[in-house]
Amino acid sequence: MRVAACGVCHSGAMTEEGLASSCPRVPGHEVAGVVEAVGEGVTQWTPGQRVGVGWFGGADHTCDPCRRGDFISCLNMCITGLTDDGGYADYLVSPADPARRRQCGAGPPSPTPQP
Ligand SMILES: [Zn+2]
Repeated sequence: MRVAACGVCHSGAMTEEGLASSCPRVPGHEVAGVVEAVGEGVTQWTPGQRVGVGWFGGADHTCDPCRRGDFISCLNMCITGLTDDGGYADYLVSPADPARRRQCGAGPPSPTPQP
């Protein structure tokens, strides 16, 4: 997505200081913008749509909290701007469905659907 605006949050300062991530990270987890391009197989979004990407970037669906349905307490939760790059940039790559299962913190998420 092409970023139009990104909220400012106190945890962005933590990211900038390297306190919230083990690697350099682009802060910003309240992102608004426009879809620039979509990955292969993505049908729910089209270029030109206005979109927002929030703080919650997904859960692993395997840990004890997730198995109880408590995804917000996931032990391996993905957080935009903390475990994945955020919106203090011109462009942001985001999963088409941020609630889907994925591994975070291992680089930018793939724009293509994953099993
Ligand atoms: Zn979990």
